[in-house]
Amino acid sequence: MNNTPLNILNNVFGYSQFRHQQAQIIDDVLAGNDVFNLMPTGGGKSLCYQIPSLVLNGVGIVVSPLIALMQDQVNALTLLGIKAAFLNSTQDYATQQTIEQQLINNDIDILYVAPERLLMEKTLSLLERINIALFAIDEAHCVSQWGHDFRPEYQQLSLLRQRFPNVATIALTATADERTREEIINVLGLTNAQKFVHSFDRPNIQYRIHQNSVGKEGLLRFINDEHPNDCGIVYCLSRKSVESTAAWLASKGKNALPYHAKLPTTVKEDHLNRFLREDNVIIVATIAFGMGIDKPNVRFVAHLNLPKNIEAYYQETGRAGRDGLPSTAWMSYRMQDVIQLRQMTESSQGSELFKQVTQRKLNALLGYCEVSDCRRKAILNYFSEDYSAPCGNCDNCLNPPKTFDGTLAAKKALSTVYRSEQSFGALHQVDILLGKTNEKITRFNHQNLSVFGIGKEHTDKEWQGVFRQLVAMGYLGVDLQYGALKLTEKSRDILQDKTQIQFREIPKTVKQPKTKKAP
Ligand code: ADP
Ligand code: ZN
Repeated sequence: MNNTPLNILNNVFGYSQFRHQQAQIIDDVLAGNDVFNLMPTGGGKSLCYQIPSLVLNGVGIVVSPLIALMQDQVNALTLLGIKAAFLNSTQDYATQQTIEQQLINNDIDILYVAPERLLMEKTLSLLERINIALFAIDEAHCVSQWGHDFRPEYQQLSLLRQRFPNVATIALTATADERTREEIINVLGLTNAQKFVHSFDRPNIQYRIHQNSVGKEGLLRFINDEHPNDCGIVYCLSRKSVESTAAWLASKGKNALPYHAKLPTTVKEDHLNRFLREDNVIIVATIAFGMGIDKPNVRFVAHLNLPKNIEAYYQETGRAGRDGLPSTAWMSYRMQDVIQLRQMTESSQGSELFKQVTQRKLNALLGYCEVSDCRRKAILNYFSEDYSAPCGNCDNCLNPPKTFDGTLAAKKALSTVYRSEQSFGALHQVDILLGKTNEKITRFNHQNLSVFGIGKEHTDKEWQGVFRQLVAMGYLGVDLQYGALKLTEKSRDILQDKTQIQFREIPKTVKQPKTKKAP
């Protein structure tokens, strides 16, 4: 038999073997079953619908929101000798007519179509007249209001099930927590689907986070100690800090190059090429950098600011170690990052729901940053994956952080926020707790507060850690305009002794170089 999946894989796509669960998924689709396929980006989802489209009679209809990529996808398939086409709103009428005729003549194997185009009555009735091999719903998380990329047209794809009850559907996505998954399955009517959930684990990546803002000095120490001649990516939040960080690393003898959207095209191309070709270039970039970049030997990805959410963190750190060799995901962040991200969301154009989802995702990220047990477990659990910690390859597994009963410290911190009328940021609260007299303290008469000087048992760094963790755990909120700390619903639980709270101990010697213990 010539057109077995493996033959097609070998002879059309030129790959020797299937990856992960591709073979099983393809068999299931060929058997006429619905399939739900959750696989990380780069896992190889496309073949899961392309190969069945070639094996089966009729055309495979691929619904994709990425209109800009359709041309490229079709070109790539055409080069392999596959009869592929796309339909979307960017095409002129004559082109659309030609493709419709080809569909009727059974002359297309794979058709990419934008959801709004598919949902037009004339497309649907055209499809009713031809032989359909399968529906593939790519980026299926767009169905979900809770996902990060909701598209209303995707919800209407539910009518495919009604109009084409006998055509198998495969839904594919790289991002779906439990809630999003359920929504995809409900909306697309995939209750009986075979569910394939590929692990998101990247075992060769070591996850490490510094809560105490070791900043770029810490970054330089990390690079010199562990990756002195390696290739890496350093992410910063703003273009300004991209430039200053790249210049600073260069002044310390590192081969560091800046990359952000506003650099002249020739400079960007040059930096990108050097990064791709040379083996010890460090690219300092905004998050715009990295989409579609597939360099196998990136040995570290460093974040000098918080990423937007866990999905972004996973994608960005995932650019390290594509070759499977040991690599590091390193991060240092500050309270200020949290405030900045919250403000960016609040002032964005998005809907209320979008803002809520964004804040919720940021909270999940903060929770991740502050966990005191296995980070890999935390990431994988976030993606609804069971994982038995400890992984032995994250900072918390390698050097379990000490924790302490922080209930009393939390009470003092929350009382200070309350007594100073919820109008000040963390640094000022710390000054009050430590009983410091400075201009701001006297201006507001805070030396007369009952909480003034009640926190001398901790250092200022320790108190900052307490405030940061209280924010991360939702016991304190942040005023989005001014960065003032506010009590929340949950604060009461602590103030009324309804709950105990554990904090990570803040290392006392933040400024000293890291002692070189076993990794
Ligand atoms: P996803 O859609 O899951 O992000 P793709 O389908 O784009 O991933 O595949 C990622 C890359 O892996 C592509 O370059 C693809 O050609 C390649 N690939 C997929 N399956 C295999 C395989 N079985 N063997 C080798 N390469 C593969
Ligand atoms: Zn771990």
